[in-house]
Amino acid sequence: MSELMNVVDIFGENVFNDSVMQARLPKKVYLELKRTIREGKELEPSIADVVAHEMKEWAIEKGATHYSHWFQPLTGATAEKHDAFISAPKENGKVLMEFSGKELIKGESDASSFPSGGLRATFEARGYTAWDCTSPAFIKKDATGKGAILYIPTAFCSYTGEALDQKTPLLRSMEAINEQALRLIRLFGNTTSQKVTPSVGAEQEYFLVDREKYLKRKDLVFTGRTLFGAMPPKGQELDDHYFGAVRERIALFMKDVNEELWKLGVTAKTQHNEAAPAQHELAPIYEQCNVAVDHNQLIMETLKQVAYRHGLHCLLHEKPFAGVNGSGKHNNWSLTTDDGINLLDPGKTPHENIQFLLILTCVLRAVDRHAELLRESAADVGNDHRLGANEAPPAIISVYLGEQLEDVLDQLVSTGSATHSLKRQRLETGVHTLPDFAKDATDRNRTAPFAFTGNKFEFRMVGSRDSVASSTIVLNTIVAEAFAEACDYLEQTEDFDLGVHDLVKKYALEHQRIVFNGNGYSKEWVEEAAKRGLPNIATMVDSIPYLVTEKTVELFEKFGVFTRAELQSRAEIKYETYAKIINIESRAMIDIASKHIIPAVIKYITSLATSINEAKAALVTIDVSVQTELLEESSKLLAETRAALKALEELTEQAGAMERGRGQAEFFKDEVVPVMEALRRPVDRLEMIVNKEMWPMPSYGDLLFEV
Ligand code: ADP
Ligand code: MG
Repeated sequence: MSELMNVVDIFGENVFNDSVMQARLPKKVYLELKRTIREGKELEPSIADVVAHEMKEWAIEKGATHYSHWFQPLTGATAEKHDAFISAPKENGKVLMEFSGKELIKGESDASSFPSGGLRATFEARGYTAWDCTSPAFIKKDATGKGAILYIPTAFCSYTGEALDQKTPLLRSMEAINEQALRLIRLFGNTTSQKVTPSVGAEQEYFLVDREKYLKRKDLVFTGRTLFGAMPPKGQELDDHYFGAVRERIALFMKDVNEELWKLGVTAKTQHNEAAPAQHELAPIYEQCNVAVDHNQLIMETLKQVAYRHGLHCLLHEKPFAGVNGSGKHNNWSLTTDDGINLLDPGKTPHENIQFLLILTCVLRAVDRHAELLRESAADVGNDHRLGANEAPPAIISVYLGEQLEDVLDQLVSTGSATHSLKRQRLETGVHTLPDFAKDATDRNRTAPFAFTGNKFEFRMVGSRDSVASSTIVLNTIVAEAFAEACDYLEQTEDFDLGVHDLVKKYALEHQRIVFNGNGYSKEWVEEAAKRGLPNIATMVDSIPYLVTEKTVELFEKFGVFTRAELQSRAEIKYETYAKIINIESRAMIDIASKHIIPAVIKYITSLATSINEAKAALVTIDVSVQTELLEESSKLLAETRAALKALEELTEQAGAMERGRGQAEFFKDEVVPVMEALRRPVDRLEMIVNKEMWPMPSYGDLLFEV
């Protein structure tokens, strides 16, 4: 690594990107591949052979020995299997480096060890990976740093085409919204754009802790979060970490992360310290959503790998530490045409403005109608500690529009037409019953789960460890549905302007309840939201049923994004995942409490008792009231710990014996989780009493403030 890196030179150096393709592929092949990518068609076998050959040559020059179809099964992580380029030895004993078009386009993989939620029983154990040629192939060093592997982003399906991954439905949802958005903008007179693509910018939050200390915390090692731990004297109350100067050790880490990501063609752009101590954020520049999803996975993997090299450990869990902020992943979402028009930009001409108002109210309609589904898309086990737990954002879906847009809606709803705008700087809509308005780029409300931020929506519920695919699939599809309905209506109306006006008014009226500009953390909002009939779904388990309601099935089937069977399988997987993770957490607690904490407390109590006895045996009188008090208090807490531990052991065993599915997940949530909390309480109090040298693991203070 040179001292001064030239970003322009290294950016994308490990990516088989457009300029590499243009330079290496015969012109005809290049143009054909570009067309395939643009039109989303299947690649001709003869073309695929040429592309594969060049890709292999390029990869070998970069030191690659293997290729891997890289996919995203429903585990939340990515999966890869490496195949060497070598062929069987020839007669002379030598091998060739081979890679055919067939191998590039399609791979076969045993699907039986990946979650399939029952789909496998009905279908086959074989799974197929298919190249997503809209996301470029790239080369990554292997764990030794010496070998290299060519990664080919793929979608993962069963033999009969059921999606077993995140990518397949994401690509399907992109097709759905492309079709409906094109229909809509054609009505507004756009004849030039050929494609509408959702863009995503995923901001990634994470914690960094010292690796040595991390290894001494078995809870972090097994579950990614602390299961015990008393608050240090200082938390995040001073707000001195947020946007604070980045310390040298962290800066060196960030520099390496950026360099790795840039080489992979990931536009790591913004980095800063986050609200909690030891918490940070990385944001890339937004891009086409399937590429953004892939890149977010690369970001998470790179953070982990580089942390390791720096003697650090990167925690991606949504709530590694109680008492300070958890980590999320903001999904910034917008719609862009192939000729560069952002459909969520209020625009400069009256004509663009009415289109914008319709699109805006369509999004409101989509979010209000499918709030439960959107909430579900952000549900994962760790996120239960953020959403619905008095932290940003709350579990109730609401939309923040900013003062001015909200006022526009208010006028539409109360008077049927809106004629003025709050701001001086106006944009004319050209329709006298619609207000003139300026785009309100200010976003002062950080508590809203779904906020309009100038020319994009920001969905803030997604968990830090979760794939950003699920929420993007839902957004693409529910908005496609709203567009389709609007088009169905507008294609029939005679007076187009009046038709748009009527729709905007109708949608504003029907869905105004989802708009909320106030404080999302307040108790009043919870009550107000209930009055408005907005769902408040506190946990992952409570949200899963919304994946399989008739309304959801109808929506996804209509747009060919999921079949009923695929949705059912996903619900099953989610129940199982929840049960498995809580089971691991509970067993880790049992293990740590019985083998480490209780023995340490006994040692402490024994030392107290010994010192009291020694004092009593001494010839002079020594005041032992403090020791006696501590002895009593810690003995009481020890008994409490032991009782909770026993209860947890029994419940965990009971839960483990249950049949998999919703019932088991609910049992874990309602019975096991509360007892885990009951075990944590006395232990955290004991941590404040017992000698630091006797406590069996590093404290919150050690982990959060000594990185
Ligand atoms: P904020 O600080 O308000 O969250 P930023 O400008 O820092 O906004 O952007 C946060 C993320 O949103 C970045 O990943 C950025 O690239 C992305 N972003 C910006 N504009 C858009 C857009 N039009 N569509 C999608 N994402 C966007
Ligand atoms: Mg943001």
